Amino acid sequence: MYIIEVFVTNSSLSVNQLYSYYYDEDIEPFKRVEVYFASGKTNALVIKTREINDLKVEEEKLGFRLLKILRVVDDEPIISLEQYELAKWLSKTTISSFISCLNTMLPKALRTSKNIFLAKQKEYIRIINKEIKLTSRQSEVLSKLHDEMLASDARKISTSMVKKLIDLGVVETYKKESSYRSSELSINNNFKELTKDQQKVYDSLLSSEKMVSLLFGVTGSGKTEVYLHLARHYINQGKEVLILVPEISLTPQMIARVKERFNDVIFYHSELNDQERYEQYKRVKDGDVKVVVGTRSSIFLPFNDLGLIIIDEEHDTSYKQDNSPCYLAKNVAIKRAMHFNAKVLLASATPSLDSYTRALKGEYELLKLSERINNTLPNIEIINLLNVLKNKQSYIISDKLKDEIQNVLDNHKQAIILLNRRGYSPIVKCASCGTTLMCNDCDVPLNYHNDIKLLKCHQCGRTYKLPKLCPKCKEESLIYYGFGTEKVEEILHNLFPSASIERMDRDNVSKKGSHSRILNRFERQEIDILIGTQMIAKGLDYPNVTLVGILNADAGLAHQDYNAAKLTFDLLMQASGRSGRADTSGKVIIQAFNPDHYVLKSILNQDYDYFYNIEMNYRSKTSYPPYSHLLEIILDDNNIEHINKSLAFLEEKINKLPYKHYRPSELGKIKGNYRYRILMINKQLNPLINDIWTIIDEYLKENKMARIKIDIDPLYLE
Ligand code: ADP
Ligand code: ZN
Repeated sequence: MYIIEVFVTNSSLSVNQLYSYYYDEDIEPFKRVEVYFASGKTNALVIKTREINDLKVEEEKLGFRLLKILRVVDDEPIISLEQYELAKWLSKTTISSFISCLNTMLPKALRTSKNIFLAKQKEYIRIINKEIKLTSRQSEVLSKLHDEMLASDARKISTSMVKKLIDLGVVETYKKESSYRSSELSINNNFKELTKDQQKVYDSLLSSEKMVSLLFGVTGSGKTEVYLHLARHYINQGKEVLILVPEISLTPQMIARVKERFNDVIFYHSELNDQERYEQYKRVKDGDVKVVVGTRSSIFLPFNDLGLIIIDEEHDTSYKQDNSPCYLAKNVAIKRAMHFNAKVLLASATPSLDSYTRALKGEYELLKLSERINNTLPNIEIINLLNVLKNKQSYIISDKLKDEIQNVLDNHKQAIILLNRRGYSPIVKCASCGTTLMCNDCDVPLNYHNDIKLLKCHQCGRTYKLPKLCPKCKEESLIYYGFGTEKVEEILHNLFPSASIERMDRDNVSKKGSHSRILNRFERQEIDILIGTQMIAKGLDYPNVTLVGILNADAGLAHQDYNAAKLTFDLLMQASGRSGRADTSGKVIIQAFNPDHYVLKSILNQDYDYFYNIEMNYRSKTSYPPYSHLLEIILDDNNIEHINKSLAFLEEKINKLPYKHYRPSELGKIKGNYRYRILMINKQLNPLINDIWTIIDEYLKENKMARIKIDIDPLYLE
């Protein structure tokens, strides 16, 4: 008889503990089992077991009856010891449940066994003895078999004959082992020769004693080529390489370049379906894959011998998960690199303040590529929108920008127009009584979308018919304020009726493959002007783009968020970097209301360090990251009583702790739920985390409390 200790596969923090069951046989840790829990059957993960002599004696010691494990789900453990320890670490450092961490790490197919069909490991046949005498029927079947044939295909010819041939020792079956393919085979030899600067970066990374390097390379400086050369180096040593990218569908060129050079490569991202994700996961586990290019969650793939992790555009917000566990891929990368004794390469033209600060301090190796491959940075001009308004020009597309676009069209070049707001108009207001149309469930104004002719809540996605009359004063006087990408598209169509214009934002690329359809057409120069949100600011490398226009460039600065300046800086710098990447030098026209703001000044001079110094000065004065860590507690519930009780409980406990914190602040409602935030600040993260875990454990024992989520070093405070 064995006591089996398990985590039930429920991601709530309130069941984040080991539960004991018994079973007749021992069960290997990390297999899933089915158990009764609360009022129903559920899956659970075995963590540890111990043998006992007498169940009664055990139950007496524990003071309660033990239930029996209903059945063992898996033939093999679903995670390794490394993965188990990683999930434990993730849970501890993000203050989230072990199971939510495990679920984040695993493809859906491995999370529960209930819904998803799992393909068994494929079985193959090979012919091992041709000398044995066979009947004519047996020979006939044998003649149709060949090595490396799927066993299932062989059985389709004749199940009984194949069985007979196996029994006779003529044929044997085998599961595909991780076939070691020589690395020469998996690399194609069409690498560009590195420039002197690239070579220096390459050499410094390999010779550095530091585990983490930061490649601070301006846009178009050839970072990708360095990744590929480094990947080749590690593959030649028999190691695996992971390249993280912000979003797969926005990096068609990176994909093309990787495919061109390597054979054993997979792309792991959210557009794969569950079965595909499971299969790719399996391939990595089986050692079939040398290079993985993937988004955030690929950091958890079951590598065998990882040599290098590259995080491209390491500043990108997609590397932080905003639901629990709120982890940062960089931290996980470093944790995994320690396990494998691997290297981490962070790279960006606009590094995160944290990474750049660590690099300046010498904690990371600082590598630089300060020149573009074509040696010319784009020419940047800022248009002051106040002057534009004074001169009675359109402030959506200024006369100057209009002229530049015309110029591009005349020269058969291409333009990118960035506006980080989708929809037609972000606000619909009554001109008579001033009422703004709001979502019924959320505290946000409704956006008008002309494509679907509906009002849409950008918080919860709910749509509403556009009323004819103001719902309050019943006047027919609703007007649209502000503008989004849809309106810009309409204006550009009117200004340039013969140009081919396309829009790309979350509203029109929701379907699988629509990103790449648009980008492919842009690449083939079938589109003259591409309008889009921040989606089009990242990574694109199209040689024919000679103009980038950025509308309402400083809108992001209006947010009172501690990180607003950095996020705006990144967006403008990245977007500017799309212009003039090849032979023709590029132009960037930035339309803004505050040209004197230090973000715009640093963009004008393309000077990251100028921005960095001013921003760090502000961060230091306010002790925001990277000078300290933030711990955000978010409560949410549709019952305000639960919120009030929770707030009172937490405030009482937190007041006793020695950390700087703010009074709870009310956040806007979302989907009918009240939301509150408590923000804590401390230089050292570990003691803060430990103390909050203690409070959370007590919190979960209380009844009628609000849902609670912890986010450490959130990128936005809204
Ligand atoms: P980044 O990732 O730094 O923005 P890319 O890697 O996209 O820059 O490189 C910019 C352009 O320069 C690409 O078109 C790329 O093919 C080209 N390039 C990069 N390295 C080399 C090299 N060593 N020789 C020739 N062309 C290069
Ligand atoms: Zn809503």
